[in-house]
This record gives sequence, C-alpha cells and structure tokens, in this order.
Amino acid sequence: MTSVVPFFFGYFWKMTNIFTKKLLAWFKKNHRPMPWKGEKNPYLVWLSEIILQQTRVAQGLPYFEKFKAAYPTITHLANAPEDEVLKLWEGLGYYSRARNLHFTAKDIRDNYAGVFPTQYEDILKLKGVGTYTAAAIASFAYDLPYAVLDGNVFRVLSRYFGIKEPIDTTTGKKVFTKLSQELLAKKRPADHNQAIMDFGATQCVPANPNCKVCPLVKTCVAHKDDLIRQLPIKSKKMKKRSRFFHYLIINHENQVWIRKRVEKDIWQGLYEFPLLETDKLLDRKQLERNADYQQLLSPASMINRISAPFSQQLTHQKINALFFEINIEKPLKNPPEGWINISREALEIYAFPRVIDLYLQDKSLYLNF
Ligand code: SF4
Repeated sequence: MTSVVPFFFGYFWKMTNIFTKKLLAWFKKNHRPMPWKGEKNPYLVWLSEIILQQTRVAQGLPYFEKFKAAYPTITHLANAPEDEVLKLWEGLGYYSRARNLHFTAKDIRDNYAGVFPTQYEDILKLKGVGTYTAAAIASFAYDLPYAVLDGNVFRVLSRYFGIKEPIDTTTGKKVFTKLSQELLAKKRPADHNQAIMDFGATQCVPANPNCKVCPLVKTCVAHKDDLIRQLPIKSKKMKKRSRFFHYLIINHENQVWIRKRVEKDIWQGLYEFPLLETDKLLDRKQLERNADYQQLLSPASMINRISAPFSQQLTHQKINALFFEINIEKPLKNPPEGWINISREALEIYAFPRVIDLYLQDKSLYLNF
C-alpha cells in the first residue's frame, strides 16, 4: 500500500483508523432512510442493487416498489414471462439488467431450490452480479465482511488518501479493493458499506464536495493538497459513437408492424418498429432512394409524416432517430421474419426503448421534409 499511498506506514494506519471511526459516526447522524435499507431478505437486497446500478435513487425507487409488489419472491419473478419483466422495467434503461435479473431468478429456482445463495463466492457466480453487487448482498443480507467498491467509494478513498492510481486499471482496482477491505469495520460490514456509499453520494460528491462540514477534513489529502478536482483519476476517455435510426411506422387499416430485437446489440429483447440504420439521418427523398427501403416497400407507399429528431444517450452511444409514418393500401405480402402485425392500441402492451416511448408519447412533433 505504501507504493501508492505516500505516507509512512504508521501515519497511514492512523488515517485508516480515523477514517472508519469518523465515517461510522457521520453515518449515525446522517442516516438516509430507504425502503431497502436494513433489508435482510437477500432477494430484495439483490433486486434493489440491480435496479440501482447506473440509476439514481429517485428514479429507481418506484421500480423497486413495482417489482416487489408484482414478484414478492424470487420464484414469482422466475415464473414470469420475460416480456412481462421487460415491460415492468420499461423506462429504466440498461435492459441487460432486467434480462439478467430474470435469468438469475430462474437459475436460483432451478439450481438452488429457490433459495438465494448464502456464500460470497456463490453469489458472485450469478449472472449480472459483479464484485460490487456480491459484496453488497453478502454484507447487507448476511453481515459477511466484504467491502463494496463503487464509483462513490473510489471517489471518497482516492480523495481522502490522495491516491493517484487510475481507478479503471487492473492495478488501480487491486489497490482500491485492498484498501477498502482493510478499512472495513468487520463487525459492522452492512453499516460500513452503507455509510461510505451514502458519504460519497451526499457529502464527498463529484463536483463541489461539502468539505466545510466534512468530519474527515483535517486528515483529507485531497483537501490539504488541493487535489479535489483531479481525483479520482481515470486513464481512459470513453469513446462515444453516434448511430442514426429510421423507424418505419407502416400503417394498414390501423395496424402497424413491430419486431423484437434479438441481435447481440443494444435493447436486446425489446420491441421496435422496422428499422433502417444508416451513417447519417436521411430526409424523405434520401430514404425513398435507399435500397433497403425500396426492397421493403413498393413505390406506391406514401410517407405521410416525418417526426422531428429524437435522441437517446446511452453509455457508449448516442441514438438519433426519425420516425416515418407510411400508409400502405394492401397489407405487406412477405414481411421479413419476426415482424408482428398489431393494432395501434396494442402498442402499449410491448416494451420499447426509451427513444420510441418518447416518440409515442409526443406525436405533436412532425417535420415536413
Ligand atoms: S474533505 Fe472534502 S474531499 Fe475530503 S473527504 Fe471530505 S468532502 Fe471529500
């Protein structure tokens, strides 16, 4: 640890002691009540942790309540159809979480007799469960001594101890894992883990941490050395890719076509309108000249309306979408495999990506070009 923490061992040891003691004292006074806090049912702990991955508490809370009401036990969740689970998840994003949640519920039903595993190593083997979630379940549900390490924890530790090792490298992860495990109050792992995450979420926040009233300010390296804005350090800049989607809303007598996304790509398992993807957004004429469009629809098809552009930001991609409302006089003779013909009213039964939901909710935005 001394190679990354620029202190004498004795001083470092003193800092770790101060850190854990003061953190727990802070937690006593700043406890934020949440429906899943203090929960000992591993199924509900797991459910809340999966919902809260990459999601703000305020956004995740109603989903936690909805899932808990719809599926009170892991067996209820396992027995539900996947489409129903995805529909309930609609609007929360990162749908692989919902698919993994459902897969894991079935795995536990079939391979663990419906009983959630009780050992960290077994929890870690579950699909969709990484080291952070396994530590959270093990400590919150079973009081096992495993320290959580998420974005909040990286930030708090890198600032307090002044660690300049990047948090997104293998070495960096090892350093922070070792440190967080050393700091853990072994007799109170659940409180400790909750405390450090709450501390990062409300006190040592990314921009403008509240150092003036921080109980750790006297020994905080980032505060002393003016490193708050630099820490934590990331080595890689994430590259974002832009994609351009043209959704065809092919109408015939109040019926439209949709399809399920089955490819290994974003939104697997969700539904969408027939899609043409190109390397830029096309206008009416460009779309009509597109070879894939011509293969799908006859020249007699009428593009009635074109939406304003809608967009959705994903972690590594920005989706730009236009919706083309097209009327056809006769039903499609040979729709591609997997296309489903449904009434417009039935659209609400299916789970769509957010960008399609936005369009369905706001059809006032049309362009005529
Ligand atoms: S003093 Fe500021 S930077 Fe240091 S731990 Fe406290 S809130 Fe975070």
